[in-house]
Amino acid sequence: MDLVDVVPGLVMLPLGISNAYVWLEPDGATLVDTGPPGSAPAVRGALEVLGVRREELRQIVLTHYHDDHAGSAADLALWARAPVAAGAGDAPFVRGQEPVPALELTAAEQELHAVVAADLAPAPPCTAVREVTDHDVVAMAGEAVVVAVPGHTPGSIALHLPGPGVLVAGDTIAEHGGAAILGPFNHDRAQAWRSLQRLAALDVDVACFGHGEPIVGDAHRALREATDPLG
Ligand SMILES: [Zn+2]
Repeated sequence: MDLVDVVPGLVMLPLGISNAYVWLEPDGATLVDTGPPGSAPAVRGALEVLGVRREELRQIVLTHYHDDHAGSAADLALWARAPVAAGAGDAPFVRGQEPVPALELTAAEQELHAVVAADLAPAPPCTAVREVTDHDVVAMAGEAVVVAVPGHTPGSIALHLPGPGVLVAGDTIAEHGGAAILGPFNHDRAQAWRSLQRLAALDVDVACFGHGEPIVGDAHRALREATDPLG
């Protein structure tokens, strides 16, 4: 796997269909998202390359329950004995307690979704989940602020790291061709667009996404100029 150094302390793990992120601190690390099911060996290998020992993985944060993000949460949480946090609105789906809600796909998204979802196995339930909500703080880069961004999923969250000026956006926003776009495959597109606007109001220099490359430098402007090409 080609690890991507985004900014000092923040590394992107390209896990095929989606990205996960590691925030490194002197005394431990935080993993944001876990890739599709079966990604645990690749994530463990990446942590080893980064010099993070199993007991140093302090926590796992899930931006949302989708299988390509929460797919290896159960495996990795068990391996590291690390707590898992997810948005309160998504926790029942991460735990496998409730059937997942339907997607609201546009015509442009339907074909793309058929291709992307074809080989995606369902995420094994991850039962021990700590629920986080808007304005909660996660110990990461000092204090990372949870931003509730419903729409992509009911309980999607983003992480705002005010210290380094970084946004980890999850799938509410994606990167395509160097520009920010509304992430595809939403449960409520109108709500997702409103959530995107909330993220675009944050003063961040760097933005990272579940899909696509990070935008490094003046990300705030790129987010304000985001479009919805699949709408
Ligand atoms: Zn998603």
